[in-house]
Amino acid sequence: MSGRKRTGDKVSEGKKGLGLYFHIPFCVKKCLYCDFLSAPCEGEERNAYMEALLRETQGRACDYRGYVVRTIFIGGGTPSVVETEWIEGLLSLVRECYEVMPKAEITIEVNPGTVDSQKLVRYRRAGINRLSIGLQSANDEELETLGRIHTFAGFLDTYDRAVKAGFDNINVDVMAALPKQGLADYERTLEAVTGLNPQPAHISAYSLIVEEGTFFAELEREGKLFLPDEDCERRMYERTKELLGKAGYMRYEISNYARPGFECIHNCGYWKRQDYAGFGIGAASLIDNKRFSNRNSLKIYIENPLNCRGGIQKLTLREQMEEFMFLGLRLTEGISPLEFERIFGKTLEQVYGEVIRKNVKDGLLYFHGGKIRDMDWNGRQTELIPPDFGSRLALTQRGIDISNYVMAQFLPD
Ligand code: SF4
Repeated sequence: MSGRKRTGDKVSEGKKGLGLYFHIPFCVKKCLYCDFLSAPCEGEERNAYMEALLRETQGRACDYRGYVVRTIFIGGGTPSVVETEWIEGLLSLVRECYEVMPKAEITIEVNPGTVDSQKLVRYRRAGINRLSIGLQSANDEELETLGRIHTFAGFLDTYDRAVKAGFDNINVDVMAALPKQGLADYERTLEAVTGLNPQPAHISAYSLIVEEGTFFAELEREGKLFLPDEDCERRMYERTKELLGKAGYMRYEISNYARPGFECIHNCGYWKRQDYAGFGIGAASLIDNKRFSNRNSLKIYIENPLNCRGGIQKLTLREQMEEFMFLGLRLTEGISPLEFERIFGKTLEQVYGEVIRKNVKDGLLYFHGGKIRDMDWNGRQTELIPPDFGSRLALTQRGIDISNYVMAQFLPD
């Protein structure tokens, strides 16, 4: 990906790149739509968990001797609710026990109201160079409906402090299709975020999904949630592309937009199926085509963090190919047929020729000559190549709009 000189790109010779994910499952209070593995938690249990997280990090280091860490992502939950010493301790332990690239991308998720200037400065000093702030909406009523702990003014204060602390790579999360939200309300959120000075480097824009087991699911069952209709949701989706495109953001993944050069390297690693190791409860890993996760129990994890893994799924060659397709096609740069052949020893045409030709004919997939390029809404038309399986294959704008339909065709019946 282009633009600014990237951190985390070059890996020591002979060593594989690795992403590390640390799950910190604590929040001030549970948001009403949230089904993530997160909950409010008292100090003592929090400390016991963080101790266990450090134990797991240290105890598993020998498994990753042949790797060099290119990205670190501290997510949750709200990792910023734990005392800063824990985050500093975790990062210095990682540097002690793992080989970390000097310019590794290191992200932490924070929520407004859980960080002050001192904490942010200490994060910077600990080497964190990317901040992901959960905003969701610039409208205080909507924030209250979501059960968020902060106001928009609270977000502005956090953003301002983050910039002053030296963060120049900040992601802001926004959410569409909220209860009682109209198109104009959502546009105001997008305008408020793109109008920040300085502009955030990255924006993640997802639609609200009502998940089973949440308070919102109960409200929906009782007919009290009042979500925007499908047509309005579709228009919000369209406006996300248009407004962010006009504001200078490139869509590089279905729901993620960045100023050139600020794509999230860690998350791109997931979509490109690069190896990553997850630590903490529920954290997933992909190592050498094996997928495994830690179990979700806080109690078991605290007792023995090195003995809480669930089963290991060794991916078959077919499963690896499927993942390569449906994860890689999430990126607007798409996938490389040559890389497919290099990894799997078969050409893309041999395995998926028929389905690809059909989708190219239907205007849902296309071959192009470059890396990420916007096709029509950002005025940067890429060079289109007739189907020759020698260039890159990506979803068209229409293909992105119905990506689930396209991706499903790469999965078994
Ligand atoms: S802050 Fe995030 S993780 Fe925590 S409850 Fe809210 S949505 Fe869930």
